[in-house]
Amino acid sequence: MFLGGNLAENAGGPKAVKYGTTKDYVLNCEVVLPTGEIIWTGANVLKNSTGYNLTQLIVGSEGTLGIITKIVFRLIPLPTQNLLMLIPFFSPEKACEAVSAVFRAGFTPSAMEFMERDAIDFVLKFVDVKLAVKEEHKAHLLIEVDGHDLDTLFKDCEKITEIMYEFECDEVLFADTAQQKNDLWRMRRAVGEAVKSHSIYKEEDTVVPRAELPVLLKGVKEIGAKYGFKSVCYGHAGDGNLHVNIIKDTMSDNDWENKVPLGIREIFELCVKLKGTISGEHGIGFVQKSYMDIPFDASTLALQKGIKSLFDPNGVLNPGKMFE
Ligand SMILES: Cc1cc2nc3c(=O)[nH]c(=O)nc-3n(C[C@H](O)[C@H](O)[C@H](O)COP(=O)(O)OP(=O)(O)OC[C@H]3O[C@@H](n4cnc5c(N)ncnc54)[C@H](O)[C@@H]3O)c2cc1C
Repeated sequence: MFLGGNLAENAGGPKAVKYGTTKDYVLNCEVVLPTGEIIWTGANVLKNSTGYNLTQLIVGSEGTLGIITKIVFRLIPLPTQNLLMLIPFFSPEKACEAVSAVFRAGFTPSAMEFMERDAIDFVLKFVDVKLAVKEEHKAHLLIEVDGHDLDTLFKDCEKITEIMYEFECDEVLFADTAQQKNDLWRMRRAVGEAVKSHSIYKEEDTVVPRAELPVLLKGVKEIGAKYGFKSVCYGHAGDGNLHVNIIKDTMSDNDWENKVPLGIREIFELCVKLKGTISGEHGIGFVQKSYMDIPFDASTLALQKGIKSLFDPNGVLNPGKMFE
């Protein structure tokens, strides 16, 4: 199994809302530096207050600081039970508002995924999952709770359902069988591919404090209208992580190349204004590096570039990624 890329990108997934991302499970790494030395970044311990945290610096560094060759993980036991429900909403903003209400009430679902109506329409044409979606359903939340005691989980679901109804949702669908659970997850996992198979696209990976999700979603749509592009939004709502797929459809090449980046810049500025940032899990790479001046001021950017020069004085590792 190859996990270096997952560490390098600090990958996450639907369960990150309860379990965190890759970084939360890495204790120590062996790294080959661009200058040829081989180092260990930390220690194989659960607590470590010794010097700067080089392990967490390497995680998420997108292969620009060193090559990870060995990894020491923290392991946790798998939960034995889970329940899954799908909730249709009459308004996407209300669905987003419901997300933070669940956490304020003291619940931490193991997954809390948002899909706006277009995402559902695209995916139902793409996978063979049967789902009754009414005309007036404008967004869905997919919520999973997990643990070891089924009775407790049923009680949690009841309370979460009560919270959902406060945000004007339609009837909650409980996945009764393993097949139903599998179908709902298959549907959620295929959304990205379904949207992308439709048209040329640009995928943004916006992230804000989860209470700001309704503001972000509204802003993305307003900015899209201003610059003339359509976006399909879905993602890890429990983390405040909204994937914004901008689709080209019939837009001219000129507008796609010149107007859309201005809109993306505005979306990222909104994220930062809301105390969020420009990538929750996909990283910066080549594609997003021209936007790094939005989350970072000149001093912070200089520090980031200084770290790169210290590790890689000759610029041999992934040159041009993250920064020029
Ligand atoms: C379509 C798509 C969907 C995605 N969806 C998600 C998602 O839902 N959640 C999420 O968190 N991420 C997502 N990602 C990003 C994801 O985190 C990475 O693509 C994936 O984890 C990288 O693993 P990989 O093995 O494919 O690495 P690769 O693609 O091979 O490499 C990724 C980067 O890591 C570097 N790298 C690889 N191995 C090492 C190593 N040993 N040491 C140092 N650097 C190394 C490479 O140079 C490269 O820069 C998505 C990416 C794509 C393209």
